[in-house]
Amino acid sequence: MKELGEDLKNNAWLKMSEEEIQAAYLFADYYIDFLNRAKTEREAVDYVRRLAQAHGFQPLDQVSDMKPGDKIYMEAKGKICALVVVGHQDLRQGINLIVSHIDTPRLDLKPRPLYEAEGLGLLKTHYYGGIKKYQWLAIPLALHGVVLKKDGTRVDVCLGEDEDDLVLTIADLLPHLAKEQMEQKMADAIKGESLNALIGSRPEGDTGKDPVKAAVLKLLQQRYDIEEDDFTSAELQLVPAFKARHVGLDRSMVGGYGQDDRICAYTALRAILDIDTPQRTAMCLLADKEEIGSSGNTGLQSLVVELFVADLMQKAGYGDYYTVRKALADSYALSADVNGAVDPNYPDVFEKMNNSFLGRGVVLTKYTGSRGKYDSNDANPEFLSQIRRLFDDNRVIWQVGELGKVDAGGGGTVAQYVARYGMEVVDCGPALLGMHSPFEISSKADLYMTYKAYKAFFASFAG
Ligand code: MN
Ligand code: MN
Repeated sequence: MKELGEDLKNNAWLKMSEEEIQAAYLFADYYIDFLNRAKTEREAVDYVRRLAQAHGFQPLDQVSDMKPGDKIYMEAKGKICALVVVGHQDLRQGINLIVSHIDTPRLDLKPRPLYEAEGLGLLKTHYYGGIKKYQWLAIPLALHGVVLKKDGTRVDVCLGEDEDDLVLTIADLLPHLAKEQMEQKMADAIKGESLNALIGSRPEGDTGKDPVKAAVLKLLQQRYDIEEDDFTSAELQLVPAFKARHVGLDRSMVGGYGQDDRICAYTALRAILDIDTPQRTAMCLLADKEEIGSSGNTGLQSLVVELFVADLMQKAGYGDYYTVRKALADSYALSADVNGAVDPNYPDVFEKMNNSFLGRGVVLTKYTGSRGKYDSNDANPEFLSQIRRLFDDNRVIWQVGELGKVDAGGGGTVAQYVARYGMEVVDCGPALLGMHSPFEISSKADLYMTYKAYKAFFASFAG
């Protein structure tokens, strides 16, 4: 038989059994459904809460007498949540934590978004997270989010997802008049202030100033019972209106919005739903605000990990600060986030010996960061050795991955924020093509291997 080349030797599809390949394809169908139902962090939390309930997870305050096998659900502000399965081991010895994020780059509406210009109704936006602005032009956009009226009434908005519902969009400049624009640097060619979305063009009557805006307001009033001032206490997000799809003639890939980092959120979620009572207590934490630096009270810089663990330990009778801190320091974590797969269209920014590839399994990323590992967690080799062994013992197909060439750019994850507590942590998740674009690409083999990796991790490190 011919010796396999390096590329094929590492290909996950060739290492998986036929049974496992079938399982991966089936898993991807559920994953695609999740991507289509949860395009914002609030929708992801709603989805997770329902699924957790259906699987017997209970809010902490309904649990008396915590014991191994108990399933607990925790949540804050409707935008960050955790599922916990209590293990046999004493909580004071620490937990196995997998933390992913459920926020995604998008266009947020400004607090005063609506205006009229040239007979068109428009919505001003302020982008959230790292986007390439041109990718948000000339695509159908859906509007998701919540409006809190002055009296506290909450209105849920989801516009543009049903096939026959309307969509919004940001029109792009025609090439005929883009001579000057096309000569500009890509970063400068589209201004943040030009990301204004079309929301109407038909005036209401022929009197008064801004008749199109007036008509839009009337329609908003009819559809949602909101008025213009209500935008000031709202969280409304423009996201791609199209659905996630199978990609490739072999259907081996998933294309869709928000796979950074819902691919890790979904695989971690499924892993914790599927484990038996573990030795160490397992926690699947789904966090918000990663894309803007984990700031805010639903991001991981808010010490919410500490609060969730303290809540659990308080329930178990060990709520004092020292014991909580010690348990956190003795914990193990996977920072479940994606890496950038080597893209054959852009070979210049990758270093193929150390970067990750689509279809070669879940990626262990020792460090992220930029400009000399700045702002990175650099995982300890002692911990990496344990993880390698764990993955190999559980037939998890995995690869190493550094994000691109040195000084090609860089990025960060939440690993550094959980590392603060002294726990061991390493970045671990699949690689994507087109990360942060409205249509990111993942491999179904990697998706399945990520699930297997997380499940093995939750069941591991018994003392
Ligand atoms: Mn991410
Ligand atoms: Mn990201």
